[in-house]
Amino acid sequence: SYVGIHSSTFRDFLLRPELLKAITDCGFEHPSKIQQDALPIAILGTDLIGQAKSGLGKTAIFVLATLQQIEPIAGETSVLVLCHTRELAFQIKNEYARFSKYLPDVKTAVFYGGTPIQNDITMLQNKETHPHIIVGTPGRLNALVRDKHLRLGSVNRFVLDECDKMLDQIDMRRDVQEIFRATPTQKQVMMFSATFSAETLPICRKFMRNQEELIESDEKKLTLYGLQQYYIKLTEAEKNRKLNDLLDELEYNQVIIFVKSTLRATELDKLLRECNFPSIAVHSGVSQEERIKRYQKFKEFKERICVSTDVFGRGIDIERINLAINYDLPGDADSYLHRVGRAGRFGTKGVAISFVSSEQDQDVLKQVEKRFEKSVDEYPKEGIDVKSY
Ligand code: ADP
Ligand code: MG
Repeated sequence: SYVGIHSSTFRDFLLRPELLKAITDCGFEHPSKIQQDALPIAILGTDLIGQAKSGLGKTAIFVLATLQQIEPIAGETSVLVLCHTRELAFQIKNEYARFSKYLPDVKTAVFYGGTPIQNDITMLQNKETHPHIIVGTPGRLNALVRDKHLRLGSVNRFVLDECDKMLDQIDMRRDVQEIFRATPTQKQVMMFSATFSAETLPICRKFMRNQEELIESDEKKLTLYGLQQYYIKLTEAEKNRKLNDLLDELEYNQVIIFVKSTLRATELDKLLRECNFPSIAVHSGVSQEERIKRYQKFKEFKERICVSTDVFGRGIDIERINLAINYDLPGDADSYLHRVGRAGRFGTKGVAISFVSSEQDQDVLKQVEKRFEKSVDEYPKEGIDVKSY
């Protein structure tokens, strides 16, 4: 099948019974190809760079591998997971909660900016609440490390999710490097993404020793086969009308609409609600507490329409999204691939529709088609068959 699900089962990995039980509770039966390839390596403590297209369960690889190997000691953190947005950190923390259900001694915490740092400090000061596993964003974690509230001398697993994104941004990379330097030399390092640019890969390698690399050299394999991709050429002024029509005529379970700025997210969200499309907006202009609330509502299927900036462009896993709309196209092919990957998780079907209103948009679309050897067709005037996605 196109997700590369193997006929093998999770039992083949010789995981702890507590983990196997949790995996069964999650409804996972067969591992995906990347899980099949990466889990045996990761469980042995080997350094690993893992690339596979969106939605194929890269999270479970490092969550299971770290839980398999952990020996929790009170007051010590042995696993550190870094990612680029707060909602993703929150999501990964929840994945740890799911999979460590039968490992009650293992404590996981999530730390990110926009929340009172004192809460994190208090948690770290008490042996009873001090986490064994920390998931977080680089800025907040580095602040805790710099002020010596968080000591990393016991860390033996270091994970970067969406690592190309974190290492490509200079300020985030600096935080990652500082945190990395505060950990012991002897440790397992794992990095994951759907995309690694030729410039990023050598940087990733600098963090590792004797690593295994599961890299998709054939970029067309990053194409999501269950996803239909279309574009619509229009002017900026026609976008709202068109979006309205699409939301009217298409059937979807959940839809994510990407825009290029916080201001545009706020305005489009308002407009949609005025047009009786109950939407929520997620972007950096919303308070952190509210952002997480909206994320949860969307994840729990209490909302169906989400307008977002690139805050939700990567990593975010919402099971029922089967329509992704680029109201504004992103500036590069990698971002496009991550965004449309929000629809069609774990091989499910979906549709992505991109508005093309400038020459730059056309260039990006060309890059996408070229890199992933996938033609993006013009959205047919008569619409698309509802049953096809
Ligand atoms: P990625 O990080 O590769 O984009 P995620 O780790 O977010 O993908 O996983 C995508 C979705 O697939 C999640 O909802 C996850 O629970 C689900 N999933 C992962 N592995 C399996 C599996 N082996 N069987 C069924 N569902 C899975
Ligand atoms: Mg992911």
